[in-house]
Amino acid sequence: MSEMKFCQGPDCHTYHTQDRLKGMKGSKTYQTRRRSSFYYGNSNFCDMRCLNDWINKYIEQGLDHFGRTTEAKHLTEDNAWQKTWDWNGGYDNRTYVYRNGITKEQRPLTEEQYNDSNYTLNTGE
Ligand SMILES: [Zn+2]
Repeated sequence: MSEMKFCQGPDCHTYHTQDRLKGMKGSKTYQTRRRSSFYYGNSNFCDMRCLNDWINKYIEQGLDHFGRTTEAKHLTEDNAWQKTWDWNGGYDNRTYVYRNGITKEQRPLTEEQYNDSNYTLNTGE
């Protein structure tokens, strides 16, 4: 049985939905949603609105804390390989290929290699 946890949206409790309204008659309050699992923001938020509320409130602090991108990153030839299809033979004869997005070089790929998330020609870094 999974543990119940609260939505991390800072304003979750301010949204008027029936499932948030809890308590005895006369002392009802809107409350932060609590569930065993959520689908948004790495399972921390009940919906997109709460995820966006959190982002809008904390994004500047987060970027300052973890470091901002201040110059362009470069994806070199060594890491520009992408798994894709070669449609040259038409839909029925399509084949798996590894295509380099910079050099446009294309190499054959087996179905097993295509589905293997650990298989790569990219060198990393
Ligand atoms: Zn929420």
